[in-house]
Amino acid sequence: MSKAQYINGAWLTGDGAEQITVYDPSLGQPFAELKVASSAQVDQAIAAARQALPAWRNTSASIRAGYLRGFAEQIEQRRETLIALQMQNNGKPRHEAVVDIDDAVATFTYYAGLAEGLAARPSTEVPLAVPGFTAHTHLEPLGVVGLIVPWNFPLVTSAWKLAPALAAGCTVVLKPSEITPLIEQTYGEIADALGLPAGVLNIVCGKAQTGAALSNHAGIDKLSFTGSNAVGTQVMRSAAAYCRPVTLELGGKSAIVVFDDCDLDQAVEWIVAGICWNAGQMCSATSRLLVQESIADALMLRLKTAFETLRVGNPLDGEVDMGPLASQAQWDKACEYFTIARAEGLQCVAGGEALRDPGWFVSPTLYADVPTTSRLWTEEIFAPVLCTHRFSSEQQALALANDSRFGLVATVISADLVRAERVALALEVGHVWINSIQAVFVETSWGGTKGSGIGRELGPWGLSAYQSVKHVTRCLG
Ligand code: NAD
Repeated sequence: MSKAQYINGAWLTGDGAEQITVYDPSLGQPFAELKVASSAQVDQAIAAARQALPAWRNTSASIRAGYLRGFAEQIEQRRETLIALQMQNNGKPRHEAVVDIDDAVATFTYYAGLAEGLAARPSTEVPLAVPGFTAHTHLEPLGVVGLIVPWNFPLVTSAWKLAPALAAGCTVVLKPSEITPLIEQTYGEIADALGLPAGVLNIVCGKAQTGAALSNHAGIDKLSFTGSNAVGTQVMRSAAAYCRPVTLELGGKSAIVVFDDCDLDQAVEWIVAGICWNAGQMCSATSRLLVQESIADALMLRLKTAFETLRVGNPLDGEVDMGPLASQAQWDKACEYFTIARAEGLQCVAGGEALRDPGWFVSPTLYADVPTTSRLWTEEIFAPVLCTHRFSSEQQALALANDSRFGLVATVISADLVRAERVALALEVGHVWINSIQAVFVETSWGGTKGSGIGRELGPWGLSAYQSVKHVTRCLG
């Protein structure tokens, strides 16, 4: 049983009642076990973060930047181990695991740069219209922050929170997902290797109870959560009880809009990547394909071939395009939607079935002409399941795309760039790609509108999420 709790710079065995079993989803077999943190250990972690806060927030931002560059270098040094672990624990194909490492390195490097900017300019003069006064702005760390993350991009999602929080001068308690708790252990190991002051970064592993102990705790100043809408709602309720800020990165049911002037083969590549990357387990999966009528039949034929020729298998056995779903629960959920699709009489063009034995695989699945009332059209499935619907005009495409309780991302594919930009601005989402795979750059923002959440990560917005604004105004008279 490993020492998985990293509290106040020490590695401890969890003393909670429950146990976490970590699986290889390609085999459906366990390969590690650990004990969850108890509520008392969550208390200890928060107390350690509180104790470390005064010194850390007063550390010069350039020193904090040095630690962040250290994180980037140390992730690089552990590249091969982290790739192997993500292949084994998440079932990610190797090329996808590589992208996650690059993303985490880029995130720590980027926020090191922003921290250096803070060091160079600790306050900003505010020009006032009224004479006789001066005013300047200080950006202060929010304090002790709780970070709760899911399992689909564990290294990356945690980096998106840790790097800006530490850059801002906050101290943190991170709660990884119980599906992938080993991946974030690396951040504790790196903190040790860098000599990060004890208590600045704490990691508590556990299930819902551990997450709730953190999000309900009186001792944190902010909670940043990525996960499902069901849990996000509870987290927001806890924050409301203390009137403190939350960032919520929640679910999606995003649209990919394909106009009839596109290159069909190129469109197929982007559509497949938008739904089959990470086996569709992406909050940003473009799981609703809106295709212009005149090209719908031709596109569906090409998509059927593309879906049926994707190499699905165990990433550790060799080159694959898509691995398994990450857990039995996720596999059960996908199978449930296949049953619903049959009950609704949906037209299945490719896939629509489980590929178990061994492991939690499903086939990439394509449904044609799905009614907008279908549960598969409206609900987040989190699996490689693409629903399609035809449109005739740009106006109709926009109305269909925006008809969702979510608003995370969208993709527009068209040779007419004026139209594509116009559609991008009219889509009710936080991020739009035009003629692109879902390339995510640390300099841009991440986050959604409507039911997809509150707040933004990445870019300068990601740093602001961990800062409080203070103005000092002085009378010159
Ligand atoms: P989840 O909500 O079940 O779990 C997320 C985290 O919350 C886990 O660490 C879990 O242990 C913890 N948790 C569970 N119950 C809790 C409680 N009562 N209080 C506090 N914490 C609790 O989500 P998941 O299944 O791990 O992840 C899938 C979901 O995450 C999908 O809906 C997906 O869209 C969303 N997601 C969103 C983004 C984004 O950036 N918007 C990114 C990735 C995933």
